[in-house]
Amino acid sequence: MEKEFSNWSGSMRFTPGERTAPRDEAELAELVRRAAERKITVRPAGAGHSSQPLVATEGILVSLEHIKGLESPDLEAREATLKAGMMLKETGGALLEHGLAMENLGDVDYQALVGAVGTGTHGTGRHLKILSAHLVEVGLVTGTGEIRRVSIADDQDFIQAAKVSLGVLGIFTSMRLRLLPAYRLHRRECCTHIDDCMANLEQLMEDNRNFDFYWYPRSDLARIRTMNLPGEGMQDIPFARCIREKEKFGWSSEVIPRERHLKFEEMEYSLPLEAGPACFQEVRKRVKERHRKQVCWRVLYRTVAADDAFLSHSSGRDTATISLHQNNTLPFQEYFDDIEPIFLAYGGRPHWAKKHSLNAKRLEPLYPMWSRFLEIRSRMDPEGVFLNPYLKGLLGIDAGA
Ligand SMILES: Cc1cc2nc3c(=O)[nH]c(=O)nc-3n(C[C@H](O)[C@H](O)[C@H](O)COP(=O)(O)OP(=O)(O)OC[C@H]3O[C@@H](n4cnc5c(N)ncnc54)[C@H](O)[C@@H]3O)c2cc1C
Repeated sequence: MEKEFSNWSGSMRFTPGERTAPRDEAELAELVRRAAERKITVRPAGAGHSSQPLVATEGILVSLEHIKGLESPDLEAREATLKAGMMLKETGGALLEHGLAMENLGDVDYQALVGAVGTGTHGTGRHLKILSAHLVEVGLVTGTGEIRRVSIADDQDFIQAAKVSLGVLGIFTSMRLRLLPAYRLHRRECCTHIDDCMANLEQLMEDNRNFDFYWYPRSDLARIRTMNLPGEGMQDIPFARCIREKEKFGWSSEVIPRERHLKFEEMEYSLPLEAGPACFQEVRKRVKERHRKQVCWRVLYRTVAADDAFLSHSSGRDTATISLHQNNTLPFQEYFDDIEPIFLAYGGRPHWAKKHSLNAKRLEPLYPMWSRFLEIRSRMDPEGVFLNPYLKGLLGIDAGA
């Protein structure tokens, strides 16, 4: 295993003291116990798609790549247990073999399921929640090296904390998820002027299962993307030109994620749903005034339904998300720094995995269940084995946990 770790876009690198991939839960528990005795930090990593230093450590970097599989699928209860080393792509295929599927997926499926769960990864859909909103049971190794299984029936608060936990409550080894019977989707992509898209936003959001749009700063055009169950949703978008070659029909796990070849940096904020359009228009104005020459990448607008996870970006509120993208070989900091205050003025919460500048002081007021999350964290990891300096600043935890 190469020692240096780099995230997908290349903007976050570090060299851990050790990289390891335990064969099973018992080996992982022993590793954490010994690290705790020696006061060495342990950070679990998935596929390294996050661009914040959530997994950075000079201690031990753990991968669960050997701990894979699907257990106890139950079509009637619509649940299955996924081992933590499963990648999202593998998860989709494994579930489909049992006639099951996740309610939604993000833009790509290159992440580990546990990594996507860790940061509140979401797709788009007015009535669809973040991926981990459907977590009902977790298997994990705590900061004292104890192996535990906790279900929603045992401890609802714990599951609400575990749904988005940045790898600070423990190292997950399995997750039981509530699912849907496997379903097919029809994807369409259509082009229009951004003003037509915004004028019809409400209908586009309500009448399509999945809807999002990209706005292109240089042309002021929008690319509308919809996905619907066969025969459902808007059959015709009169103000847009649909691109036949982009149409796709198939199982949800094959239609929702896309290929991503060009690498980019991203800042994404989640806003109260009703604040989305005004915030977008302010961002659009600012980009056109100050950044259009440097930024040719698009701005993405999505929606997510409210959930009950303590640290979810959509915790307690229906959400619109706005993402800024910039080619990863071009400067992004000035652009992101200039737009971030606009997001904050509209009550935005930053995506945990993407670029932002907030620490605990700014984050705590955005999350009503913040202190409850921290109480649970200190119970699961009293010595702070899973904390690195970045996470201490992010969560406002003093050195020594
Ligand atoms: C091309 C691209 C597309 C993306 N699309 C979307 C999108 O559509 N929607 C969206 O919301 N986000 C999106 N993201 C962000 C991405 O989903 C998150 O960064 C996600 O966390 C990455 O998963 P990962 O497997 O790479 O995990 P990592 O980045 O490696 O880790 C993420 C978190 O999970 C924790 N973790 C890892 N393993 C474990 C474990 N075993 N137990 C407990 N915690 C663990 C880590 O400690 C860390 O805190 C995208 C990112 C990229 C680069």
